[in-house]
Amino acid sequence: MIITRTVAELRRVVRDARVGGARIGFVPTMGAFHEGHLTLMRTARARCGFVVTSLFVNPAQFNDAGDLDRYPRDEERDASLAEGAGVDVLFAPSVSEVYPDDFTTSVEVRDLSVPLEGIVRGTEHFRGVATVVSKLFNMVQPDDAFFGQKDAQQALIVRRMVHDLDMPVHVEICPTVREPDGLAMSSRNVLLTEGGRATAPALARALFAVRAAIQAGETDVQAALRAGRTVLDDAGITPEYFEIVSTSTLAPLERVDGEVLIVIAATLGRIRLIDNVLAHAHRDGE
Ligand code: AMP
Repeated sequence: MIITRTVAELRRVVRDARVGGARIGFVPTMGAFHEGHLTLMRTARARCGFVVTSLFVNPAQFNDAGDLDRYPRDEERDASLAEGAGVDVLFAPSVSEVYPDDFTTSVEVRDLSVPLEGIVRGTEHFRGVATVVSKLFNMVQPDDAFFGQKDAQQALIVRRMVHDLDMPVHVEICPTVREPDGLAMSSRNVLLTEGGRATAPALARALFAVRAAIQAGETDVQAALRAGRTVLDDAGITPEYFEIVSTSTLAPLERVDGEVLIVIAATLGRIRLIDNVLAHAHRDGE
């Protein structure tokens, strides 16, 4: 595996691979790798002849300087895990390589950036995400890019951006990888206190309870959410949001019809966690 720090060198190695006929797979990340990241890399490895992973903690998507400072970083460990997952190139640029002093452009996917994470973190958050992902796509020029369902709103925004801006990239969304107790894997999990780590699986349990209610035939959104609120109350968690929304627009729903997205965010101690699951309304005969 090669580690590159400049766009020029990255372009050189990717060009050589493309000339050699390889399909280029790309996994953008902010590092502190866990099984969620490694699963994306292995999926890319299985589908593509040449796999690039980027490791860049993007300051433009952090609304909270403390969160940016605390974000876990361990490039040496990440490099060895990425190599084990079959990555060919780890692109780990400096902040100034990505955002030179004269940088002024941004990409905004309007409607989808507004609700949920947009309300809590501000619309700048997804402007930062869309801008860096479009820059990374231009740097790597991948055929396939792999994202996690764990960040459902981000995945939807990237898909919309690629569609709206005619980017020649196929976006693949891979299922959320969880700990055995249900907690969605996240780089932030290592920052949880012992008590926070013990409480955190209640987020997933609340989502699963709502999904079970929907699968058992509940079509009223408030009634379905009540099943999850009981779990959260028992764990002493007050979520920032806990909603059933449209899988395409993220608009809140009143009734469950077809496939829906159940989303949650909560801060445990100082650590903010998000999670979601898809659920499909039960219909007779299905
Ligand atoms: P991050 O480093 O947190 O920006 O995440 C990089 C990529 O990994 C994003 O596409 C995330 O959605 C994805 N990812 C993060 N956690 C998980 C997980 N538990 N399961 C699957 N994908 C994940």
